[in-house]
Amino acid sequence: MIVVEKAAELTAKVKEIKQQGLKVGFVPTMGALHMGHISLIKKSIAENDVTIASIFVNPTQFNDKQDLANYPRMLDKDLKILEENGCNLVFAPSEAEMYPETDTRIFDFGNLDKVMEGKHRPGHFNGVAQIVSKLFAVVNPHNAYFGEKDFQQVAIIKKMVAVLNLDVHIVSCPIVRETDGLAMSSRNLLLSKVQREQAPAIYKALNESTKFINSKSVEDVKKFVVEAINNNSELEVEYFDIVNDLSLESITSWTDPGNKAGCIAVKVGKIRLIDNIRYNL
Ligand code: AMP
Repeated sequence: MIVVEKAAELTAKVKEIKQQGLKVGFVPTMGALHMGHISLIKKSIAENDVTIASIFVNPTQFNDKQDLANYPRMLDKDLKILEENGCNLVFAPSEAEMYPETDTRIFDFGNLDKVMEGKHRPGHFNGVAQIVSKLFAVVNPHNAYFGEKDFQQVAIIKKMVAVLNLDVHIVSCPIVRETDGLAMSSRNLLLSKVQREQAPAIYKALNESTKFINSKSVEDVKKFVVEAINNNSELEVEYFDIVNDLSLESITSWTDPGNKAGCIAVKVGKIRLIDNIRYNL
C-alpha cells in the first residue's frame, strides 16, 4: 500500500493507473476507521481495479470548534487497517495541502442543505462540498463510495456531482451497525460507559417505529421515537424527521409519494450521533 501526502503526486499516480485502463474506486474518510469504513473499502475493491482511501479531518465542515479538536485521530492505526483490508493507495494530506488558499466557495443545494443536518450544523454541508469536490479533483476516480449512515450527505454529494458536471459515479452503501444496533461511528469512541450503554436505544426506537406505519400517523410515529429515546437519561433528540428520500422534504402522511426515511440526530452528552431508517411501505 502506498501512502501519499501531496496532491500533485496522487493526481500523477492516478493518471498512470488510468492510462493502463484500470478502474479507480475512491473512499473519502476522516479516519478513526471502523467496519463501516471498511465496508466501503471492500465494496470499492470488489468493483474496481485500484482502491484509494483518503484520511483527512476537514476543518471547514466542523461548525463546532470543540468537535473538531476532540475528533479522534489515529493515522498509524488507520494505515494498518487499510493495508490489512487490501486498500492500494492512501491519500493523507495536510491542511495546507488541501487548502493552499482559503476556499471561499459557497454552495447552494436548494432544500437539501437547508433541512436536518444543514439546519442544525450551519456551514457543515458547504464544508463537505468544498472538501469532496477538492478530493474528486485530486483523485479523479471512476467511482466514489459513501455510507448511508450520512443519509443527507449522500443526497448532497449526488447533487454536487450533477451541479458541477463531475465525471464520477457515486455509490451509496448500507449502514454497518454494532451487534447491539448502534450505527458504527468514529464518535462512538468518545462516549462514556453509560452513554455507550444507552446509545443503542436510538436504533431500537427507529427499528420499532417501522412496525407502526399501518397503525400510527406520521406525527405519532415521530412522537414515539422522540419519547422512546429521550427516556434515557444521557440521550436527547435534537431532531427527528421523516422525509422523502430524494427531496428530503418532510412527509405528512404515509400516502405521500416516494420512498421515506426517518433521519435523526441525538445529543449524547457533548457528543452528537446521527442515524436513519427506511420505512418500506
Ligand atoms: P467519516 O470518516 O465519518 O467522514 O465517514 C467516511 C465515510 O464512511 C462516509 O461516507 C460515511 O458515511 C461512511 N460511514 C461512516 N460510518 C458508517 C457506517 N456505520 N456504515 C456505513 N458507512 C459509514
